[in-house]
Amino acid sequence: MPGLQWEIANARAADRAVVESVHADFKRHVSFPDYFHSCINCGNCTAVCPAFRMADFSPRVVVQKVMHSKTEPELLFQMVDQYIWACFQCYSCWDVCPAGNNPGGLIAILKEAAVRHGLPSTQQTLQPYSRILYKIMTTGTQITPDMHTSKGLFRDWGPHKVELAEHLEEYRDAIPVETLAGVYDKSWQVDQRTMDELLVIEREAGVIDMVKSSNPDVGEIVAEEASQVELAPREGPA
Ligand code: SF4
Ligand code: SF4
Repeated sequence: MPGLQWEIANARAADRAVVESVHADFKRHVSFPDYFHSCINCGNCTAVCPAFRMADFSPRVVVQKVMHSKTEPELLFQMVDQYIWACFQCYSCWDVCPAGNNPGGLIAILKEAAVRHGLPSTQQTLQPYSRILYKIMTTGTQITPDMHTSKGLFRDWGPHKVELAEHLEEYRDAIPVETLAGVYDKSWQVDQRTMDELLVIEREAGVIDMVKSSNPDVGEIVAEEASQVELAPREGPA
């Protein structure tokens, strides 16, 4: 990552209305009051953060900026270009905060605000994750055959996992990387009804529109798939 100094310069040059809108969006999230209380700057969260070991990133810095963003909304905007994307939402930080803050949760809702605003930097940051995004939106799981590394993992996935592991190279070669089409039955087995319901929920809840603003390619593909879904009512109890 280029580091926070680079993002601070970007935030200074940003449209003030967008900076304030991202801040307002973040603060009105329904989970904000649960995730933020007050920060005593102890550093416990950073001490356990795996992302801190690998990148120029600290949840303590995030929470401190959240705390001071009330009067300086640009403090949040300084982190949306790349900084917050170093967090992979393990929530170890939440367990150890003596003030009851959830730094990972705050980062998640800031990511949401960045996505909702379709910021160019967010689009650029998320572009390499298009395949994962598509897979999550259409199946509810992000695991794909190229993530399988051994027969030992995920035994509860059933016998097809062993078969997959034995022919992993062939499956990897056969996957059209752009779309991952045809891999639904090569990882977690998701039935068609579940996938259809997922698309309908995403369509009705506005998730697809939100994704369109940050990743138009994936958003359009999923929107097309969702438009073709017609759900028959589930059979009720006898
Ligand atoms: S949720 Fe994010 S900030 Fe918290 S410990 Fe995990 S990687 Fe670090
Ligand atoms: S553990 Fe909690 S109080 Fe300590 S620095 Fe992190 S967010 Fe602040």
